[in-house]
Formats: sequence, structure tokens, C-alpha cells
Amino acid sequence: MPTLNDAQSALERHFGFSRFREGQADVIGAVLAGQDVIVVMPTGGGKSLCYQLPALLFPGVTLVISPLIALMKDQVDALNARGIPATYINSSLAYDDVTARLRGMARGDYRLVYVAPERFRNARFVESLKGCEISLFAVDEAHCISQWGHDFRPDYLRLREAAEALGRPQIIALTATATPQVRSDIAKQLGLKQPSPFIAGFDRHNLTLRVEPWKKENERLTLAYQIIKRAKGTGIIYCSTRKAVDDVAGKLQRLGLTVGAYHAGLDEAKRSRMQDYFMAGDLNAIVATNAFGMGVDKPDLRFVTHYNLPGSIEAYYQEVGRAGRDGLPSICTLLFNYVDTRTHEFFIEGSYPPRGVIEQVYSCLLSQKLETVYLSPREIMPRIGTRNEIAISSALIYLEKAGHIDRGQGRDQGVRMIDRAPVGELKVDWEDIALHEAAERRKLREMVNFADHKKCLRQFILRYFGDRKEAANCRCSNCQPKLKWGEAVVELKKEQPSASVVEAAPVKVGPRALSDEEHLAARKILSCIARMEGKFAKGMVAGVLRGSNAKNIIANGLDQLSTYGLLKQHSQDDLTRFINALIVADCVKQTGGVYPTISLTTLGQAVMRDQTRVELDLEAVEADTSDEEITLPPDYSETREQTYALYQQGFSVNEVAEKRGLKPSTIETHLAALIEEGREINVADLVDAEDRALIEAAAARRGLEGARAIKDELPERIGYGAIRFVVADLRRRQKD
Ligand code: ADP
Repeated sequence: MPTLNDAQSALERHFGFSRFREGQADVIGAVLAGQDVIVVMPTGGGKSLCYQLPALLFPGVTLVISPLIALMKDQVDALNARGIPATYINSSLAYDDVTARLRGMARGDYRLVYVAPERFRNARFVESLKGCEISLFAVDEAHCISQWGHDFRPDYLRLREAAEALGRPQIIALTATATPQVRSDIAKQLGLKQPSPFIAGFDRHNLTLRVEPWKKENERLTLAYQIIKRAKGTGIIYCSTRKAVDDVAGKLQRLGLTVGAYHAGLDEAKRSRMQDYFMAGDLNAIVATNAFGMGVDKPDLRFVTHYNLPGSIEAYYQEVGRAGRDGLPSICTLLFNYVDTRTHEFFIEGSYPPRGVIEQVYSCLLSQKLETVYLSPREIMPRIGTRNEIAISSALIYLEKAGHIDRGQGRDQGVRMIDRAPVGELKVDWEDIALHEAAERRKLREMVNFADHKKCLRQFILRYFGDRKEAANCRCSNCQPKLKWGEAVVELKKEQPSASVVEAAPVKVGPRALSDEEHLAARKILSCIARMEGKFAKGMVAGVLRGSNAKNIIANGLDQLSTYGLLKQHSQDDLTRFINALIVADCVKQTGGVYPTISLTTLGQAVMRDQTRVELDLEAVEADTSDEEITLPPDYSETREQTYALYQQGFSVNEVAEKRGLKPSTIETHLAALIEEGREINVADLVDAEDRALIEAAAARRGLEGARAIKDELPERIGYGAIRFVVADLRRRQKD
């Protein structure tokens, strides 16, 4: 029998790690001793090693059952790269590939084979495995076997039988989230023999857990803003709905932050672009629903903020666990107000409607006296007098599950009545619904208990997951209520002087006056932005300043600008940070959207011209030793001032255009900019009231970004000029 010593040397030889992580040695010891085990470790805790290492030491193959098909190839590639023979079998493969891999398996070509659970639906598949020597059955994401878990997958229920058909190899079940109830379900459903549960790794010492209560909506936004601004690095702001994501992202953008939005309602291309920006560190933060995170492996997230209350501790801690995977200090803040529990209650009520509602929905369908009923949930609502549309959809799901109706594939295919059972004889599993509802309410209650907890939050988490560790030297918001964000980081630095922590972020102190060199660098950056005429994003500006030869810079002719290479001694990162600070200080404004472009504000122009100086929230910038001079771009504000002066003298747009030898549309652009700046121009003189109302309504629908989109909604007679004036006025009011 292989020993822990063998495991230790395999750890070094194959994985290049010198030590086991918390819990790993205990688990591996038990597996090598032939026991069935359940491993509960948080995401990133190092579960895979618990079966990968024994797999190297056992005679036969280890079968890994995992529902995450998208990750299988990566996992197998990583093993192969370490010289460990492994492969996978899932629906992405052609039939011939599957047979070839099965044959290889029988020959003993692989140490590990990853398999998707749905494979076991096919009896022939199990049959074809019978020729292989299987030493270990590793069931990953084992909570999927439990109806109490958050991700029940019926295919998992076949695993026990499959293992028995294959001579019942030893089983290791792994999961990140398991309450005692789910744990006992895993043991029961997999038929584990006296399983030893190992629960470890829930204590993440570098995460500071904080609960920040808020009262007014504005307070919550301010907290989120401050967390992002003070962080040295990027992070995630989790919101509970798509609408909230769009709303919060929009508000933070208007506050000058570079944030992205991510939820399942965005198209695939947009989501993947957002993810790319995020991974590249181009965003101050990403505002997202819980759709964001799975498979996102960015180790240096400095914060995870919950803008809304999560529905369970499991969900909360999994999301929080994405912060600080590099071991450096990170802040996890839950912004809390009881109001948020209502959203969850509404969802729970909708997902588990009372028996009366399900029966009413069914009688409503019956009363149509049709074989197929074409009524949407929304149309059923008034007929039975309920206002919760989700409840109706859920009722239909339960009726379908019980075999009384068939909802077909598409939405417009109607509901087919199958057996017309009398309402009193419905075969819906009422008890099951009640149990699930109770479980979900209990989880929500636990979450609220956490948010309300007056003692150590870290200890609460450890106890919740059954981890026996004590939370020593805690910095959570209850143990150290007075610590502000920056201080929490500093404290951690003092206490844990390990190499990686010493490099941790210095505390930011907010805006400060710039040295002469820094002021000059700021002016150079601003003049470069001005020359790029608002057509490019800050990454491009930074590229031009440091004289990058990137294709998109050359292709756009930006290497011809006089500002090209003006700050070549600085790195892309430094320049980007500098530009960010200029955005926050309102010298530069940034458009929204996926490719946010930047341009100067009035203040930015004044700084560029050395008419004023600003304070920036910036770490020390190395002295700029180059002696290159700034050549200022032509003065756009000058030309606007001339337009303004003429307009003030009572000339019309066309007259001003004629006098100045410019196109009327140019004059309109000038006036719009002046309106937005808040100059004295009466929009009512330029646009009549009726048109103005139409334009405002269209802008409310289409947003203030594109005049084109607004124009599409309006009668032909309303021109771009009028649209620009009204939009500029709306923007100005928004700023006020
Ligand atoms: P989980 O499956 O629990 O989410 P993984 O097994 O993917 O976590 O491990 C997370 C990361 O930790 C991986 O990059 C892995 O290589 C690394 N890791 C695991 N065990 C050790 C160890 N003993 N020493 C150093 N790194 C480890």
C-alpha cells in the first residue's frame, strides 16, 4: 500500500509543490488507507490534488466524474503538461474518439479519466468500462447529488449503481459547499461506507470580511464607489438582478470609474469582451450578477463587494472566495439593508407557490375546455387574481413535472392538457415543494443572521461550514469595527511579514498636490488626449505616450502625433493609472459603452494650458527627466467662444455660420457643448416645446449616448441640431 511519504515525494516530483495545503495530507492519507471520504473545501482550496495524487500511486485508473464539461479539457491539458497521462470523455467528442479513449483506458494508458455524469445514462458505457481496472471513483461537485443542494443533477443519482456495477471501487466525494444535511445526503446517495468527512480550508486569512449597513440608496452607492477607488487593483461588485447591474454600473461610470457590466442578458460577444477587459486589468471593477465568476480565475482580485444580500451563506462565501487567491490582503464587503430580503422572499414565493395557486392555475387551464391552451403566465395572472408572474410559471412547471400538462418546446406552442385530472387529484409532490421552500427560507435566514451577527464574522463562517478552526487575530468589521479599509490592509501587513504580503498595497491617502515634474507629465498626457480628438480609449493614449509600435497605433497614424513617445520612460500601467487619476479628478471624461473613449473636460483644458493645477489620487510618479516640450493643440474652446459671443449678440445659428464661414452643423455642435457646460443659452429659443418633449421622451428610451438612435425615434422634421441641444441640456441637468 502506498504511504503518505510516497505521496509527499509524488507531490514534489509531479506537481512541484513542496508542502500540502491545509487538509490535503489528512484526506490523501485516508484515501491511501482505502477509506471512502467526503472532502469539503472552498473553491480554490486544492480539492483536485486529493484525488490526482492518489491516482498516481494506485495501480488502476481513477475515474473523475465532473459536471463542468467546459473545464475538462483544461484540467486534462494541465495534467498532461505535468507528464501525467490523462484524458476525458464527454459529449464534445466524436463517437470514434470515445471508443479510442475507452480502448486506451482498458490498456491502462491513463492514470485519470474525466467523465461527464450524463455518460452513465447509457448502459453500454458502463458495460464498456467493465474491462478496466478502476481504483478510485472521484465524484467532483458532489453536492449535485442532493436535492437539498443548490445545483441538483439527477444524473448523479446513477453513480452509486454505476460504481457497484464496476466492482465498487473506493469513492472520494468532493464539494465546496455542503451543509450537514447535504453531506449526509451525499453519503447516502453514493452509498459511501463509513465515510470520514474532511472539512478544511474555509479560513481565508487574507480576506477581511465586512458588513456595512446602509440606510439611503446614496450611501450604498458611495460605499461601493469608495471601495473601488481605494482598492489597489480590480474586483467584483455583485448585484442580484440584471437591472441592478445596469443601473449600478451606469452610476459608477458617471462617477468617473471604469467599470464593466456583466449578466446573462448581454449577448455572448459582449460578455466575453467584458471578461477579457476584466482579465486584462483594464477595469476598476466589474458589476455583475452571479453569472460572473464560474471559470474566471483571476488571482489578484482585491475586493468582492455584495451590493445586494445573497440568498445563502454558500453563495456568499463562494463569491467572496474569488478575492485574494494570490494570498494578498483583500476586502469583502456586504452592503446590507433588510430591504434586500424582500427580493429574495418574492423569489421564494414565486418559486414555491402555495397549493391553492397551483390548483387555481390548473382549473383555469381546465376551464378553457381545449386540448391545447394558449395562455401565457401573464394572461393567466388576472384570471386567478395573483400578481406574481413567477408563481404562475412555477405552477406550470410543477404541473408538467407531475405529468398533467406538456408545455412543449417553445413559448408559443401552448400548454397541452394531458389527462384532465380533477383538481382534487393532482399528483403534484406537495411535500417536496414545502420542504424545498422551507430549506430556502432557512438559508436566507442564515444569511440575514450573518449580516446581523454581532460577533466574529469569520468564526461564524467557519462554524457554518463545520470547519473546527478558530478564527484568531480577526479583522472583520465586528472584531475591528474602527478599522477603515486602508488600515485593515496595513494591519495585515504588519502581522504577516511573508514575502508576498510585504509587497502589498500601500495605503492610498486620496488626492494630493503634484510635484512640478508630475504636473508637467499630467499636461503632456492631457495634450495627447486632446490630439487624439476623443476617438480613442485610454489604453491607446497610454500606448501613444510611451511610443508603442502596436499595430492599431501605427494603422491609425498615431505615431505621427507630436505627442507620440512623449513619456516613453513610463510603463503602460503607470500611464493608465495616471489617466485614471485624471478621470477621477474630472480633467478627462470617459464615454460609457464597451469601447469607452476619452476626451478633455474644461478643467482638463485649463490644466493642459497651465492655467491651473489639480490634485490627483496618485502614487509618486517617477520624475520625468525628458526635456521634450509640449506643443499645445489648436484651441477648440477659442472657436466656441467666438460662436458664443456672436450668438449672444442675437445672431441665429445660420447667421453665425455665415459670418464665421463654418457649417451650421458646426455651430450647432459649439452651442451644444456650451449648453452642456452650463452657459447662458436658452434652449427654448432653439427648440420649440413640443419637439423638446418628443426628444426628451426618445432620449429616455434610448439613452443620451447616440443622437442617431434618438433621431430614429422621431418625426423626420426634427433635425440633429435640436436633438443635440436637448441632449446637452439633459446632460447638464444630470451633472447638476
Ligand atoms: P479546487 O478544486 O478546490 O477549487 P484546485 O484543486 O483547482 O482547487 O486548486 C487550486 C489551486 O491551488 C491550483 O492552482 C492548484 O495547483 C493549487 N494547489 C493545490 N494544492 C497545492 C499545494 N499543496 N501547494 C501549492 N499549490 C497547490
